[in-house]
Amino acid sequence: MQKGAIRVQTENIFPIIKKFLYSDHEIFIRELVSNAVDATQKLKTLASAGEFKGELGELEIRVAIDKEKKTLTISDRGVGMTAQEVDKYINQVAFSGAEEFLDKYKGQGDGTNIIGHFGLGFYSSFMVSNKVEIISQSYQDAPAVRWECDGSPEYTLEETTRAAGRGTDIVMYINEESEEFLDEGRVRGMLEKFCRFLPVPIMFEDRQV
Ligand code: ADP
Ligand code: MG
Repeated sequence: MQKGAIRVQTENIFPIIKKFLYSDHEIFIRELVSNAVDATQKLKTLASAGEFKGELGELEIRVAIDKEKKTLTISDRGVGMTAQEVDKYINQVAFSGAEEFLDKYKGQGDGTNIIGHFGLGFYSSFMVSNKVEIISQSYQDAPAVRWECDGSPEYTLEETTRAAGRGTDIVMYINEESEEFLDEGRVRGMLEKFCRFLPVPIMFEDRQV
């Protein structure tokens, strides 16, 4: 298991992200679904370029609620990430983006379009979560990885297995103030609002959005 601290200059980025986006915290779902779409489209591109030769299978994105665990999970069958990629794209890049974000927008009111722009898309999950897990299996020959972070700059990254094979699960442990995002009607409404007409089918509780 690897342990480390996410490189960040401010003590803790998450309260700032939360505050910034307070007015519009629904958009985490758009950010995470769009990452799942990106990962799926990348795989299709690799397949048509002949760089991915395996079975594509059913390339859909699944969104699921677990009321007991209080989780909301977004799963895709896209390119996935290796441990090195999680390190590079989640642990490092996002936070160099965060510094830029802070410098530029300190004291301004509305953060709606800022997060995606600065590569903070994934981190918008912390607006509604106590803890976020990434379980990912790359399309490349590499062990599956599990990353976990509770909203402090410390994360853990370890090898795991992913029964579903290639792809990524983003598991959000929904916080107390955000329990509305464990409500089926609420989540379906957001998916209908943000996630229609995407190039990949979105399944929610086994029904297509
Ligand atoms: P952006 O999408 O603007 O690059 P994000 O914070 O949304 O920024 O995501 C950071 C990076 O993490 C992505 O560029 C991608 O490399 C990786 N990533 C995030 N979600 C997934 C996913 N579901 N599958 C594969 N890679 C992902
Ligand atoms: Mg993104």
